[in-house]
Amino acid sequence: MSFRLKTIIGIAIIELTVMAILIVINQFNLGGSASTQLYERAQATSRIFANMVSDAVISLDLATLDATIETAVATEDLIYLRARDTNDFVLSQGGAEEALATPFVSDASYQTGLSDHRIDVSADIIVEGVRYGSIEIGLSTQRVEAEIAQALQLNLIVAALGVSLVAVFGYGLGSILTRQLRSLSLGATAIADGNLSHQIEVQGRDELADTARCFNHMATTLATDRDTLLTQQNELLAKKARVEAIVACMSDIVARAEVTAVPDTERLDEIGEMARATVVFQQAMRRVEEARIEQQRLIMAFDQVAEQVAIFDMDGKILFLNTSFRAANQDVLSNLNEDFSYEMFLRKGVEMGVYPDAIQDAEAWISKRLCSKQGERAPEETRRHPDRILLSLQTQVPGIGVVVSASDITELRQSQAQLVQSSKMATLGEMATGIAHELNQPLGVIRMAAANSVKRIEKGRGDLDYLTEKLKRIGDQTARAAQIIDHMRIFGRKPDGQKHPIDLRDSLEDVCQLFRPQMRNLNIQLSLNVPEEAGFATGEKVLFEQMLLNLLSNSRDAIEAADIPEGHVSIHAEFDTAEGHVIWLQDNGGGIPEEILNRVFEPFFTTKPPGKGTGLGLSIGFGTIKDMSGSISAKNNEIGACFKITLPPSEAVLAEAV
Ligand code: ADP
Repeated sequence: MSFRLKTIIGIAIIELTVMAILIVINQFNLGGSASTQLYERAQATSRIFANMVSDAVISLDLATLDATIETAVATEDLIYLRARDTNDFVLSQGGAEEALATPFVSDASYQTGLSDHRIDVSADIIVEGVRYGSIEIGLSTQRVEAEIAQALQLNLIVAALGVSLVAVFGYGLGSILTRQLRSLSLGATAIADGNLSHQIEVQGRDELADTARCFNHMATTLATDRDTLLTQQNELLAKKARVEAIVACMSDIVARAEVTAVPDTERLDEIGEMARATVVFQQAMRRVEEARIEQQRLIMAFDQVAEQVAIFDMDGKILFLNTSFRAANQDVLSNLNEDFSYEMFLRKGVEMGVYPDAIQDAEAWISKRLCSKQGERAPEETRRHPDRILLSLQTQVPGIGVVVSASDITELRQSQAQLVQSSKMATLGEMATGIAHELNQPLGVIRMAAANSVKRIEKGRGDLDYLTEKLKRIGDQTARAAQIIDHMRIFGRKPDGQKHPIDLRDSLEDVCQLFRPQMRNLNIQLSLNVPEEAGFATGEKVLFEQMLLNLLSNSRDAIEAADIPEGHVSIHAEFDTAEGHVIWLQDNGGGIPEEILNRVFEPFFTTKPPGKGTGLGLSIGFGTIKDMSGSISAKNNEIGACFKITLPPSEAVLAEAV
């Protein structure tokens, strides 16, 4: 149903309802007042006629009564008139025959009279309180009824006119509304179809015109917004294309493909920022790649070095093993899981018996190798089955974990032993003159004793006491010579690589005895001051004595070089002090130049002319003392150099030997 029809029907229904109510009220009011007036008029008329005919009734003047009634019934609307006496006997009557023939029934209201279209009422004829009879009249209701019907007709005409006018107005209004709404609807459809430039014709100044204006404004705003959106969309699409280009660059960077240049880095917007970030990313990736290549190189380098390298993470789990480590420890590694720790590696090795030194006290041996302090530990020398010697170093590397490296120093140790041996032979060579002189003395005594004995026997004076005394002397001197030769033989022995308890006093005395003749030849006094109680240290006796000989040789060289007329070297030892065993050796050779004091223990450091010094004496001596768990240091006093050797006390040595 169209809006227009709805408007018309709606207004018509309202109009009809209002009209009907008005007509009903009107008719009711009109009918009510007219009928009441008519009924009252009938009652008044009956009373008037009762007065008018009272005299005629009282006097029974029937002629006057008839004439009065005849005159009265000529009155408009009066249908009949009847006069009765007190006995209800009809004295006179006049009017319509039909009404007179009908028995009189008094009407209580206008409505009861409507059935026969007349109002029947009566009035008593009373004079001075005495009733003389009554008057009955019938008054026609037809005129009033006709008036009411006419009024109804008029009302209906007015109502019909009103409804028609309302219908016409409603039609007009509906048409206008419909047209405007249609125009709005068309506009909405146009906008829905994307025609945002569509505008509705605005007519008048009413609400519909306002709605149309609002609609047009909305369409204009939408069109503007759409243009803005389109512009932004185009910009976004353009940016998307640039972003895709940069993302493609990023993918190339991630895929490590060659990227010539990242575009748009000069832009000032967010694309530019992204491009610049990509350049940073590219540089970072390059660095990562470089680091990766570097790492590969490092791994390759680690794999190529002869040194065994193992890297453990912060939790102690293995991160990396180089080829050398794998090859050297294949036996242990094949019995370990993938994620072993250094401790597990050592334990497995101990369990498999690859570390001969760990047999006695495995736990102490392991914990000695594990109790790492912060930073770097001192290198540990480890003997490994079957006959290898490893120098292992454990280093804490912040951010990585622990790096364990081990060098196979078996050959080094062998060549060191050879060096020591050569050095000893050299020392022996150097000492040859002194030793020869030393041997000459007993040999001279022996020669003399033998010659004298022979002379006596030849002369026949070889008495037994004399010969016995000479032979005893020969025996003593032979023993002395044998002792010197013994010393040289012991000194000339090769180190066997085994540690034993060393009687320090014995070694000090032996070395001094061996070296003293040479010193004496050079006018250098060698004094030894040792405690009466023996002191023991653990190590290789031969190496320890060689170290002492080297110190003495250096002192001798310094005194000779400084051309000191009265050289002096003194050795002073104290055993089992709070520091352990302490041995001081000092000379009056002028001392070590301050600028080289911290370098004298470096291997191959020498200030002596070529052929004279090797620069190995102190460095090997340093290693020897370190192997004995001791320390050696050098300083100068007023007259010369002073070396201090500290070794663990006898208690520790004897405990170890048990
Ligand atoms: P070398 O004796 O073959 O030179 P060393 O390692 O024994 O090698 O000694 C290194 C250097 O230390 C010597 O060249 C010397 O300069 C210095 N030195 C060692 N002992 C003394 C000393 N008692 N007095 C002065 N200098 C010394």
